[in-house]
Amino acid sequence: MQESHPVIKNELLAYMLRPQRIVFIVNPKAGTNLQKHIRDSVDKHLNHKKFEYGIWLTEQEGHAAELAEKAQKEGYEIVVAVGGDGSINEVGSALVGSETILGIIPAGSGNGLAMHLGYGRDIDAAIKIFNTAEVRTIDCGTMNGRLFINIAGVGFDGLVSNLMKGSHWRGFLPYFLKSVEAGLSYTSRNCRIELDDKVLDLNCFAISIANGPMYGYNFQIAPDARLDDGLFEVVILKDAPRWQYFAAIPSMLNSKIYDAEFVEHYAARRVKISAEGENHVHLDGEGIIVDGDLNFEMRPAALKILVPKL
Ligand SMILES: [Mg+2]
Repeated sequence: MQESHPVIKNELLAYMLRPQRIVFIVNPKAGTNLQKHIRDSVDKHLNHKKFEYGIWLTEQEGHAAELAEKAQKEGYEIVVAVGGDGSINEVGSALVGSETILGIIPAGSGNGLAMHLGYGRDIDAAIKIFNTAEVRTIDCGTMNGRLFINIAGVGFDGLVSNLMKGSHWRGFLPYFLKSVEAGLSYTSRNCRIELDDKVLDLNCFAISIANGPMYGYNFQIAPDARLDDGLFEVVILKDAPRWQYFAAIPSMLNSKIYDAEFVEHYAARRVKISAEGENHVHLDGEGIIVDGDLNFEMRPAALKILVPKL
């Protein structure tokens, strides 16, 4: 057997053992203590032999995506979104289709994706996870060209997200109160839903196009959703008396929502939803209003993401 050249071998070894470059993107407005907590925790818990790190602060809305793109161009291997599903969406949108790996530090509210991936809710624990984490490739989805990573929703939960936009109060209680408000005011609408080769005409209260199975707070809207099967899990809440929706909340917490009488669910690669008038939509919890058809496309294996090692 021929020995490889010792210099080349050493260079290769040095290359393999060099620290990985990781950058944390933090929204300083997300909490007065958050920035300090991240700095202290990175200093204390990140393996500094393994990582060379930066902490970058966002200055305005949309800045996280810009910073993530800059990090990718500058050769950072890992870009960490500090925040909830909305922050992950922003950073992830800039990294999708690239080799750059997305990391997550769950902070703020609505950490559905992080919870599903096993991150927990603790910042120190999340940073320790990075020291031993592994890389997974996951699917993403788009709605009329806009990316989502965890869940998109149309109807009731779209309205909840749009109502949340007007409130600066974050957390479970405001979310719950807006859900009650939306639950009482939203009325079901006739929707035409095209799923690959199937067409449904249904009176819908809410439609979730799920890549991941859960919203924050362990609400499992799509227990069968898998992040890497190349399919959306489409969960339709049909029109029903209001009390039935409220009564089904506990079943969402223990993955039994499919047992509810008013639920239909399907797996599909492509989804088109047509309904009269304005659509209340959310993408990873960010509310928008869309006029016209909603076209959902699957982007299989589009994003690399750091996950806790099992
Ligand atoms: Mg899937």
